[in-house]
Amino acid sequence: MKALVKSKAEPGIWMTDVPMPEVGVNDVLIKIHKTSICGTDMHIYNWDEWAQDIIPVPLIVGHEFVGEVIETGAQVNRFKVGDRVSGENHISCQFCRCCRSGKEHLCRKNVSIGITTDGCFAEYLALPAMNAYPIPADISDTTASILNPFGNSVHTALSFDLVGEDVLITGAGPVGIMAAAVARKVGARHVVISDVNEYRLELAKKMGATLAINPTKITLDEVMKQLGMREGFDVGLEMSGNASAFNSMITHMNHAGKIALLGFLPRDTQIDWSQVIQKGLVIKGVYGREMFETWYKMVCLLQSGLDISPVITHEFSYRDYQKVFDVAQSGKSGKVIMSWN
Ligand code: NAD
Ligand code: ZN
Repeated sequence: MKALVKSKAEPGIWMTDVPMPEVGVNDVLIKIHKTSICGTDMHIYNWDEWAQDIIPVPLIVGHEFVGEVIETGAQVNRFKVGDRVSGENHISCQFCRCCRSGKEHLCRKNVSIGITTDGCFAEYLALPAMNAYPIPADISDTTASILNPFGNSVHTALSFDLVGEDVLITGAGPVGIMAAAVARKVGARHVVISDVNEYRLELAKKMGATLAINPTKITLDEVMKQLGMREGFDVGLEMSGNASAFNSMITHMNHAGKIALLGFLPRDTQIDWSQVIQKGLVIKGVYGREMFETWYKMVCLLQSGLDISPVITHEFSYRDYQKVFDVAQSGKSGKVIMSWN
């Protein structure tokens, strides 16, 4: 089969013929319809320090997908040939303390497809049936191909009660933009999102943010004044991975505010801890998607009318994979889809 492989320990990605994946007794074999590109894939493509530390070479890259079950392992009875599925890329051990207490997303031994084991930028993918998630007929392949990052948005946004709250999201990448849409949908009052990329701020406006602001052009104090906010933001969703954005968030949180941290901040990030203490801030780290409560919520949010399609800005055939990576690299894109049909 054709696959996009990180076959050399250097920047780039290569289209290669590889053997069909082996289908274990608990696996489903999926014919991939569409995949989408994540920031993580760009780290692997660019071969930065993080990728050099963690990525085994060769590796089939990719972890965001939708496809169709074409074969089931001997022990699989919950899926049948023809089922349309997306899936969770974190494969948990099922035996550690978190796994055994319903917190599989925090498994200490999790393996990730497209990161530590072969992924989905290929014509076929073998996946444990436990990780496959059935897609209802009223959700399109295009939307289903971005459920994995949408799950990051949903998991983060639903970490705290947003009803009637003023929410600050730092980072209008695809995950931040979709989180803005979720916050709006579940009843936040003001949803302010910040980014330094104007293209993405425009997308965020389309997805329902009250204000999409560039912090190099307007301060959060000015924003609060404009919105008639007197105290501060009630909930912060950090989705930029940028230290100065996080610091500005801490400064503009109300007392007793709550922050969910999804963006991977640099290791040496410094913050004013006394503000965290005096304001009584609650800070929660967010990893992946809750398995499988987040998946359930995602599907139901979509079925209740949430439209995330504006975040999808480009679609190409897998044969044009170089264009896919170039567009994703340009910063002038939301989600970029690769079709494998
Ligand atoms: P992304 O890189 O596409 O988006 C990050 C955005 O932050 C970019 O648009 C960038 O311009 C913006 N940004 C940079 N500096 C900023 C500043 N000073 N103020 C405001 N915005 C600024 O990433 P994404 O795919 O949308 O994911 C969001 C973050 O979450 C990334 O850091 C990613 O690594 C992380 N992530 C974490 C998990 C997890 O499980 N914890 C999962 C997926 C993604
Ligand atoms: Zn585990």
